[in-house]
Amino acid sequence: MDSIDLRSDTVTWPTPDMREAMANAAVGDDVHGDDPTVNALEALAAERTGKEAALFVTSGTQGNLIAILAHCNRGDEMICSRYSHTFIDEVGGAAALGGVNMLTLPLQPDGTMNLDEIRDAVRDLRDVHYPVTRMVEIENTCGKLGGVPLLPAYHQAVRAVCEEAGLKLHLDGARIWNAATALNVDIRELTDPVDSVSFCISKGLCAPVGALLCGSQEFIDRARRIRKMVGGGMRQAGILAAAGILSIEVMTTRLGEDHVHARQLAEGLNQIPGLTLDLAQVQTNMVFFALDDSIPLSAEDFRAILERDYNVKIDPRGGRKFRAVTHYWISSARVDEAVKAMREVLERVTEHTA
Ligand SMILES: *Cc1c(COP(=O)(O)O)cnc(C)c1O
Repeated sequence: MDSIDLRSDTVTWPTPDMREAMANAAVGDDVHGDDPTVNALEALAAERTGKEAALFVTSGTQGNLIAILAHCNRGDEMICSRYSHTFIDEVGGAAALGGVNMLTLPLQPDGTMNLDEIRDAVRDLRDVHYPVTRMVEIENTCGKLGGVPLLPAYHQAVRAVCEEAGLKLHLDGARIWNAATALNVDIRELTDPVDSVSFCISKGLCAPVGALLCGSQEFIDRARRIRKMVGGGMRQAGILAAAGILSIEVMTTRLGEDHVHARQLAEGLNQIPGLTLDLAQVQTNMVFFALDDSIPLSAEDFRAILERDYNVKIDPRGGRKFRAVTHYWISSARVDEAVKAMREVLERVTEHTA
């Protein structure tokens, strides 16, 4: 990777070991259940998350969609946060493809939804006006809030609300391994309280493609049929699963480095006049920051100059906000280069106007 690409952890290339494992993977037709490498990946994911079964899906978006379709009927309602990936960034698939109504709740500053608000949002089925509440979805780490990890106690508390109300609980755990790493807990402390969990292997875990959806055998049997319906039945997918096995076995154990690098980046950016950020939010692999209004440079120009002159790529987040995400291909030295680049760009513009 030549550029210092901080736009996301989705930009990660597979590691050399992954490419070798992919080249040598034993394969079969996975729609017939014949791919030994996919079967091994699914067994591994189920074991690590403490679920009976798992399903290899094409993306996190597909994993969430399949979970929603498997838990809900058309016209049912799911409760999720106003800033959840499912509500904002999954093309409205729950509504468009599942006929599922999304009731969105505000996100609190710590990335949780308020438990009383969840309780109050559950529909009273004695009233014929209402759709049927079927499911709650939580997201961990919380992407729109700087990748903050949510505690096992929150998962358990939401679980208790779901049990009271007879609801399913789905975890969008795209970066659940980052959460477990940051909290220094076994992933099962986060997955035990939920009925289903999806996690991405194609983000910080470096696999080129895919996500895993995990849950009970009965749920995964249904999910497997739905995956075929939405076009996610893949054939010699063992080529991809081979990388996924390394994602889980190897890459999950090194995410702490990315978190250290994010902290290094945040502390570096925090020293630069003209940039503002909330250091307390930097707990996993993301740094959200903003360009001060006093800087005579548009957000787009700042981004473009960094890319053109320094080969540093950052993710615009609307207004004067940006996101930078650390990952396997961002060493500590590259973090320093990125900080230096941003400092120089801002020094150049402020000198010109001084
Ligand atoms: C990335 C992401 C997804 C979706 O994953 P894709 O593989 O990009 O479809 C879902 N939820 C969250 C919180 C994510 O960050």
